[in-house]
This record gives sequence, C-alpha cells and structure tokens, in this order.
Amino acid sequence: MNIILIGPPASGKGTQSALLEKEFDLVHVSTGDLLRNIAKQHSKLADEINSCISMGKFIPDGLITELLKSHLSKIGKRNGILLDGYPRTVQQAKSLKDFLQIDFVIELKLSTESVVGRVLDRAVCPVCGKSYLKSQTPSGECDKCHAKLVARSDDTEQIAKKRVEDFYNQTYPVIDYYKNSKCYHQIDGEKSPNEVFDQICKVIRSV
Ligand code: AMP
Repeated sequence: MNIILIGPPASGKGTQSALLEKEFDLVHVSTGDLLRNIAKQHSKLADEINSCISMGKFIPDGLITELLKSHLSKIGKRNGILLDGYPRTVQQAKSLKDFLQIDFVIELKLSTESVVGRVLDRAVCPVCGKSYLKSQTPSGECDKCHAKLVARSDDTEQIAKKRVEDFYNQTYPVIDYYKNSKCYHQIDGEKSPNEVFDQICKVIRSV
C-alpha cells in the first residue's frame, strides 16, 4: 500500500506521517528530510540543495526524482511507502507513475491564513528534526531530545509566503491531476492532529 500525503507547508504532513507510519507499518519518505540530510554533507550537490531550500525554491524535477528513486532502491518497504513532499509538480506526478504504484492520495486541506499562521508558529528540534508549533509547546524543548527548538531556515515570513504561493501555483495542479482518480481523498486539515488522523484511518480502512 503506497500513499501520497499532500498539503501546504505546515499542514501537519510530518505529524500525520509519523502516526500513519506506526499504524500501518509504512516507511515514511519525506523528500524535505531527504534533502536536508544531503544538504548537511560537504559536496557540490549539498551546496545546490542548500541554496534552493534556504531561498524557498524547488529542487529541479529531474534531480529530486533521481534522488528519490535512488533512496527508494536502498530502503526496505515494509507494508508500503508513505510519500510526503513528493510529487510537488505535475511533472513529478507523471514521473512517479513509472516507478511507484499509488493506492491513496490524501490531501490535507487548509485555508491560506491557517497555513501562513502555522508556518510562522513552527519550530523544529535541531537534533531529531521533529516539528512543533511554538504556541503549543510552552517548554520550547523537544519532548524526545530535550534540545531547544529552533525556527526552520525557510520559515521566515517572506520565504513562508513564497512557499505557500508555490504550493498554490505548482503543487495545487498536482491535486487537480489526481482529483478524478479513485485513489484521491480530501481531509479537513484544520482539525486537531488526532481528528485528522482518525479521518485518514477511516479512508484507508474503508477501501
Ligand atoms: P518540506 O520539508 O517538504 O517543506 O521541503 C523543504 C524544501 O525542500 C522545499 O521548500 C523545497 O525547497 C525542497 N523540496 C522538498 N521536496 C521537494 C520536491 N518534491 N520537489 C522540489 N523541491 C522539494
């Protein structure tokens, strides 16, 4: 069972992925995490990726597709793959068809105001990368690593707005691409993480 989780930045894809991974024994593959890991190395590729991410720009379609394919070829699949952050363009959706069969496309739907608000409220653990909302984390620390949470380099107001715009201009057409297929389901992403999780589980179990 392979799933695409699609939604604007800070829509809860990371949180839902962690819950779904456990519930259905899936392998969570986040292209954002994959890229941030490569970006930590010292190489020309790392520099190229770093500069795209810090400017809020997409990595070119051909490059991200090759990096994802190579990653998938090296990992175990358990009950299936949970893709988070890919495809982000229609070109990527077309390429994906050739190397992974998709059973569910789950869209987390949120208003633009909620998205910008959440992006600016987001903080991450610099050790394990887990995302938090500052307003809901009074300790300001990661609950696993106890490290002080920091802002993501691409979560400044200007870059956040660009990432949200890119989502509507470039990734929203991906939702249109899948909308008429039987595997597409829309979930209300404004609800609490537990409610969103319950809705997604219902969809998966109903098929
Ligand atoms: P994310 O953690 O999913 O928000 O991704 C962080 C950044 O990584 C994005 O703003 C892009 O710069 C880059 N990125 C992640 N996935 C993709 C993708 N599928 N295509 C192009 N760029 C990507």
